[in-house]
Amino acid sequence: MSDGVLAPEDVARRAHSNGVTLWALTDHDILDGIPAARAQADALGMGFIAGVEISVTWSGHTVHIVGLNVDDGHADLREGLRAVRSGRSERAREMGRRLDAMGVENSYEGALAYVSNPALISRTHFARYLVSQGYCKNLQAVFSQYLGEGSPAYVPMQWSSLEQAVSWIHQSGGRAVIAHPGRYDYTPMQFDALFEIFRDLGGEGIEVITGSHTPEQYRQYADVARRYGFLASCGSDFHSPQEARIDLGRLPALPKDLTPIWHDWQ
Ligand code: AMP
Ligand code: MN
Repeated sequence: MSDGVLAPEDVARRAHSNGVTLWALTDHDILDGIPAARAQADALGMGFIAGVEISVTWSGHTVHIVGLNVDDGHADLREGLRAVRSGRSERAREMGRRLDAMGVENSYEGALAYVSNPALISRTHFARYLVSQGYCKNLQAVFSQYLGEGSPAYVPMQWSSLEQAVSWIHQSGGRAVIAHPGRYDYTPMQFDALFEIFRDLGGEGIEVITGSHTPEQYRQYADVARRYGFLASCGSDFHSPQEARIDLGRLPALPKDLTPIWHDWQ
């Protein structure tokens, strides 16, 4: 319901046929896909965890905080996510203007054609449009030339604070997880501060194995989990069959000595 290509039911079917036994749907900043995902998982006899990936601004950069096992009907969580989403339309118009100025035509309208929910237009939708029009050969190239942090059409956003995101997740009964830490552009000192502050807020977990980590990063963040006492998580970061580096259910297992974030959910 955010920047994935498949419908929640189809993601459920794909996960199940790839052998997944416990699955979480974690759309960016929205819970609207949870009922359909849960119903399909139930129909297939696959365990289901309601999730969300919240956009956070911390120390000048975007960090994604995944909430797992949240109550998708919780009013404070829903209201918080609505506020996080609220700036996306205006930001998208500004991205469109900047891309226009760079000679990329009709990108706002083009991106909208890829959007399933107008409240959740993201850079990924622009990137798909640019690839479809031949401006770039793949999504990665769009982010490095146009839309990545520091690129000319990048429009900075003030998402939620780390404190708010963790608090919404906890209020709704979930566990908070730092998503794909290997993707953030922080110094080692900033990383240490992020992990410490997150732990002090009661943050429980960190993604060790994810579709956006290299094997070297699996080892690096396994060490972070050990050092900070975090539960370990595994996230595919799956957005579509064409774009995924690794398919649902195909990631390696977590290191045996780490405790999975789902240890008491099975
Ligand atoms: P947004 O929430 O609109 O800022 O978009 C964030 C999404 O853009 C992320 O969740 C990724 O799916 C995608 N993204 C960010 N950086 C890259 C990249 N370098 N290559 C491909 N996709 C990216
Ligand atoms: Mn993410």
